[in-house]
Amino acid sequence: MTTEDYLPLLDRAIAIASANVNQGQRPYGALVVRDGIVIAEGRNRVLETEDVTAHAEVDAIRNACRVTGSEWLEGAVLVSSCDPCPLCRAAAQLAGIRRIAHGGPCDSGLIVEWVALEEVVVSRGGAGRPFQEMRAIGVDLNAGRRRRW
Ligand SMILES: [Zn+2]
Repeated sequence: MTTEDYLPLLDRAIAIASANVNQGQRPYGALVVRDGIVIAEGRNRVLETEDVTAHAEVDAIRNACRVTGSEWLEGAVLVSSCDPCPLCRAAAQLAGIRRIAHGGPCDSGLIVEWVALEEVVVSRGGAGRPFQEMRAIGVDLNAGRRRRW
């Protein structure tokens, strides 16, 4: 798809964001598109769900997984009303999405400072046990797809 091809899709994502504002929600909208066809739409639901992860892009990815019956959306494009945050970019990658089209910086006025998290590894050597149990019963975590993040 060319940049021009994304324009009507971006317009739709922005329309979703605008409609969300009219519902008292935050101004973000997103689509998951494959072969030029919209698989699913999403909107920011953070305020209504009190879920800080309920971003429009994550909502669209969740809906696309539900619609397709697969957690793997390889070949799909995430179209977002504005530049997706690190959470949404990670969600896209986890779903196998390799391309994001967006409307540029959000110009939200919100100042977000992404800082490194303090990390503490607490181990008794048992963190791998559930995976060993999974393999013991014959479950393949990578069945049916190629993981390449
Ligand atoms: Zn986000």
